[in-house]
Amino acid sequence: MTDAGTHRELREMLGLHALGALPEADAVRLRAHLDGCAGCRAELAELAPLAGDLRLVDPARLPGPPAPPRALGERVLGAVREESVLRAARERRDARRGRLRAVLVPVAAAAAAAVLAGGLTYGLTRPDPAPAVAVERLPLTVVVEGVRAAGPAVVVPHTWGVEVTFEAAGFEEGRTYRALVRTEDGATSPAGTFLGVGARELTCDMQAAVLRQDATAFEVVDESGATVLTLPLPRA
Ligand SMILES: [Zn+2]
Repeated sequence: MTDAGTHRELREMLGLHALGALPEADAVRLRAHLDGCAGCRAELAELAPLAGDLRLVDPARLPGPPAPPRALGERVLGAVREESVLRAARERRDARRGRLRAVLVPVAAAAAAAVLAGGLTYGLTRPDPAPAVAVERLPLTVVVEGVRAAGPAVVVPHTWGVEVTFEAAGFEEGRTYRALVRTEDGATSPAGTFLGVGARELTCDMQAAVLRQDATAFEVVDESGATVLTLPLPRA
């Protein structure tokens, strides 16, 4: 049996244990405890899949100065939880993208001939009164070596602004990237930020409060403001 204080202490070890980073003596104690504690087993089962996400955690982003392992365990756990929140956000974004695709696929099928013929927009190249679905697929220009676009970007005009979705890899892990949309007068509008995830591919769905017809380019810049990729937006 363990008292409440010991139980809390053991429970705090679960994060490091999930990461395989618990000192052996503590791991032995914790394993013995796990045999008899369904609550901790459940907590560990919940943490285990998150442990893989720790690869996403930049040590520089962990709060505070170097700390003793146990306190660090809590902090690591906090960071893992934070990443799991980010992951949930990514999954919501991917789900949204799934819905976007559900919209785009029939449009794409209908518009394929028009696009191949050189028309950029479906609505403008159709003489009949079909709704103007001016979804564009435009090639990204990557400026920084190591970053790779997985295909053309999808540009969706909305009444409230413009949405640009793209897939790419090679954004430096843990670095913040900023997207922006340029307008003809030379001004820029923010289109959101995202974190690099290294070699893995990420899907970014960025949005700016600029109407498509006023936008001249979409860009992603790094923390220093240097351009990483650009997407010229031709006059519609
Ligand atoms: Zn327990």
